[in-house]
Amino acid sequence: MRKPIIAGNWKMNKTLAEAKEFTLAVKDAIPSKDVVDSVIGSPALFLAPMNCKRKDSELQLAAQNCFWENEGAYTGETSPAALADMGIEYVIIGHSERREYFHETDEEINKKAKAIFANGMTPILCCGETLETYEAGKTAEWIEGQITADLKDLSAEQVSSMVIAYEPIWAIGTGKSADANIADEICGVVRKTVEKLYGNEVAEKVRIQYGGSVKPENIAEYMAKENVDGALVGGASLQPDSFLALLSAVK
Ligand code: PEP
Repeated sequence: MRKPIIAGNWKMNKTLAEAKEFTLAVKDAIPSKDVVDSVIGSPALFLAPMNCKRKDSELQLAAQNCFWENEGAYTGETSPAALADMGIEYVIIGHSERREYFHETDEEINKKAKAIFANGMTPILCCGETLETYEAGKTAEWIEGQITADLKDLSAEQVSSMVIAYEPIWAIGTGKSADANIADEICGVVRKTVEKLYGNEVAEKVRIQYGGSVKPENIAEYMAKENVDGALVGGASLQPDSFLALLSAVK
């Protein structure tokens, strides 16, 4: 039985005051980690203050990106070692916005995954296809290609413990969520790809999220599906009430 994981991705939103206010508003209402992993991926700037404010809470934190080296002359980058030292649990990597606007490649994403594991954190690896690929009926082969490249040389133990988010690009921030059956089918493609690379035991353990216009009103439809173990949520994770409502739907 895989534990559900609901992760908010705030992207480049909120001020420091708003991030602190959110943390204080939700911290005592987060369900037990024994039941669901509840994660907020905030801008890197707010991780340290949110880390202080979430003290004694079940709320977990994610960075939205990091570099693959721990230190050095890499102006503007975020060190995975520094994130781990602060107690940050997860790092989101390979989000389609980073692939598109910052030209991140599968090779770079793979190096980041290795650095995140080396520092004892868990990657949330995003994959997903464009509308063009979807309409051409090539989603499965696209996803298989991304996952195979992004997981290169990771161990079975690492892949068992990680999170993979299937996020069709055409459903992100558009309000046009994928049908729950399609989400289940493509999350199943992710699982089959992991099975092909690492075997059945690993494929049964890896947690797979759906992401793309998930909200409190539709999350239950996705969570009811066999291959969907959670959600990666942008817009609906920004407000305390909405984030808590997402968690309530799964606990
Ligand atoms: C995301 O940011 O990964 C995302 C899925 O956004 P939204 O929920 O707003 O579509």
